Amino acid sequence: MNPLRALVAVVCSVVQHGSPSIVTSNYVRSVATFCPLKRERNPVWGSKKHAARRKVQLQSAVLAMDPAVEEQLAPLRARCKEQGDLVRKLKADGATEIDIKREVLELKARKKELEDTILKLSPPDTFDRAKMNDLIKRRFFYDNSFAIYGGITGQYDFGPMGCDLIDNMMSEWHKHFVIQERMLKVNCSILTPEPVLKASGHVDKFADYMVKDVVTGECFRLDHLIKQHFEKIKSDKKTSQEEKETIERKTTLLDGMTMEEMDKIVKDYKMKSPLTGNDLTDAVEFNLMFPISIGPSGALKGFLRPETAQGIFVNFKRLLEYNQGKLPFACAQVGNAYRNEISPRTGLLRVREFMMAEIEHFCDPDDKTHPKFSQIADLQMRFYSACAQMDGESEKMMTIGEAVHGSGPPSLGTLSTPSELGALDFLLSNQSYILGHEPTQADVTVYEALKESPPSYLPHAARWYRHLDSFKASERQNFTGKIQRLEELTGGKYKGMVANETLGYYMARIYQYLLKIGISPKKLRFRQHLSNEMAHYACDCWDAECLTSYGWIECVGCADRSAYDLGQHSKASGVRLSVERPLKEPRIVDAVVAVPDKGIVGKTFKKDAKAVQEALALLSNEEAEKMDKALSEAGEYELNGFKLTRAMVPSFKREQKKVHVEDYIPSVIEPSFGVGRVLYSLLEHSFRVREDDDKRTYFSLPPIVAPVKVSVLPLSNKPEFIPFTVQLSNALTELNISSRIDDSTGSIGRRYARTDEIAIPFGVTIDFDTFNNTPHTVTLRERDSTEQVRMPIEEVAPTVRLLADGKMEWKQVTDKWPKFVAQETTK
Ligand code: AMP
Repeated sequence: MNPLRALVAVVCSVVQHGSPSIVTSNYVRSVATFCPLKRERNPVWGSKKHAARRKVQLQSAVLAMDPAVEEQLAPLRARCKEQGDLVRKLKADGATEIDIKREVLELKARKKELEDTILKLSPPDTFDRAKMNDLIKRRFFYDNSFAIYGGITGQYDFGPMGCDLIDNMMSEWHKHFVIQERMLKVNCSILTPEPVLKASGHVDKFADYMVKDVVTGECFRLDHLIKQHFEKIKSDKKTSQEEKETIERKTTLLDGMTMEEMDKIVKDYKMKSPLTGNDLTDAVEFNLMFPISIGPSGALKGFLRPETAQGIFVNFKRLLEYNQGKLPFACAQVGNAYRNEISPRTGLLRVREFMMAEIEHFCDPDDKTHPKFSQIADLQMRFYSACAQMDGESEKMMTIGEAVHGSGPPSLGTLSTPSELGALDFLLSNQSYILGHEPTQADVTVYEALKESPPSYLPHAARWYRHLDSFKASERQNFTGKIQRLEELTGGKYKGMVANETLGYYMARIYQYLLKIGISPKKLRFRQHLSNEMAHYACDCWDAECLTSYGWIECVGCADRSAYDLGQHSKASGVRLSVERPLKEPRIVDAVVAVPDKGIVGKTFKKDAKAVQEALALLSNEEAEKMDKALSEAGEYELNGFKLTRAMVPSFKREQKKVHVEDYIPSVIEPSFGVGRVLYSLLEHSFRVREDDDKRTYFSLPPIVAPVKVSVLPLSNKPEFIPFTVQLSNALTELNISSRIDDSTGSIGRRYARTDEIAIPFGVTIDFDTFNNTPHTVTLRERDSTEQVRMPIEEVAPTVRLLADGKMEWKQVTDKWPKFVAQETTK
């Protein structure tokens, strides 16, 4: 590495990671983002030297989630909350400064008591990221792409270990979701034409705000920059408690802020480039998609897909046909997605090319129950609701059954079906009020949207309602009457905090999958999106977050996206992506039907005439009226990109029709996995250092995902050992078990260490007793416990097959075969 690059890499590492910090369980403190590498001559190339030389202390966050410890901390937390509420009340009542100060001092004392207790109860649990990254690189799990040219940030190549690990994770994923849930699967094109992503909203909205250093041109993602700046202010001893609270609140609202609001923060806080101290430009919107032109003429504009989901939506009609016109059904797609992230600096966690595994579950918007919900209803999981986030509480363990259906005192819950939302709309239209506190821009937008005519108000209403749900307990008291009224309107049923059974079912299945592949349950939670984070069309959204040395990281998103996606593609393509259901009783409806002059339409549009006629036949009453009016007044009307004139559509029929079926656009529930993030979290959660030797590091991956299942280690390279090695490796291959033979001359201890490093869960040793004694036996060793048993050589392959498939526990092996202590013969 040239000296300049080496120096820059060190600076980068310090800027990025700073001094050791305790990760709190508060909020996604996901990513530090800046790196000065762009000051080099070629701004594109990254640094080879990524490993941060620091140990990260995780214990307080993990500890805070341990139910036994949480029980001890609960009274201390309650004391803090009680005092916090008192301070809030004094402020609201306009108490004197001296009175407030006295209570704030008491609050601080109580907080300190809580923190000291947390520290006292903390088991020593430090994680050495540099050590882990060293192992990942050395044994080629993955590395920066194009590393021999200096590497490139945000792009990674996976080596043999990484590839096998991903293959095994995804093979489990396929079994767990596609097979067990009887899903369909597709594999769609990555090169996506612009109109598709225009319809999905990506062309207009898939952007982050960016600012630049006015001198060097260094780019920063604005929300990350502000978060980092706020962290710095908060950690400054001179910052007052009040200021810290203001900053905390602003951080929470950051995700929903407009560009102008963020720009104002930059100005108010006099923010500069963190690398040079230079001024920053005003923010600009930077679309994260990679533009492409398809074909040699360059005429067809498009983008590399930013997610796999759109491929499923645009094939909805074919999939529905394949499923014999029946709902619900789910379709999965696994493949790469591309996002031109502004400053990807956190290893696999934020990259520009990454594998996604997405599921779109299509269901009736008025029936989001799930037939298998009872099978998972008792599963205990860790939830961090929007309400808890707003009240400064920590996560809670509860069953998914309780989270969906509620328990104990009635909870406000989340509305998601059109009839519930209709009830809310009725309530709101009779009570035109806005929030009881200063409204944010998001509140106003949603409130305005609520006043629009159906159906667009439905998701907006859901969002507003959730917003109501995320109020602090004290604020909520102001709404008591209204909430009761709403409960009456929705049939008096109380709901939990997860919007519906299908969403809850998927959350539980995601949880089961993540545990199965080795994610630590203590470092996994579901965090609900606050209303300012959620897409405007979503009814409810929960992220499966893993605790890593970078903080809580969103690994899987799970959202109820309502009918948004199919609705958008129906509008833009003119192909109605809907489902028919028979009505119990036929219904008489008013219809406005366009009557085209087929001759003129045919002559004008030639091969497109059929599409135009289909689009005309699909017009809703509202659209038909609008078109009729426009043709009379302006003489023309654009429908799906086709310009129509009065001559083409001379008249509209107004008639009454008897209909036997109704047509609706299905709702979509979407679990969306970022495979790289799950992989990284898994590696962190399974990284171990042997107690007796801190140089011996390994990954304690579960056998089902371990890249190689078993090692074969002949103790000597004498020719007599060879037939046994061959016999064993043939038997393993016969049962499709991946194995690795290490017949090098190193000591057996060193060879075990090498196989442990790449997470091989079992090791077979062929020793002198193998060929001296009959029946021929070998030893089988388990990586984590390092225990060994002695067993007949022909039993090895079938036993390892069962262990590797998760169908047998190691305990069953030690119960069945004698423990190995020492060889009887040594030559
Ligand atoms: P989103 O569509 O933004 O909700 O992303 C879905 C999932 O993809 C997230 O839960 C992440 O796990 C993953 N993801 C999103 N952006 C990135 C990125 N730049 N690098 C790696 N994973 C990502």
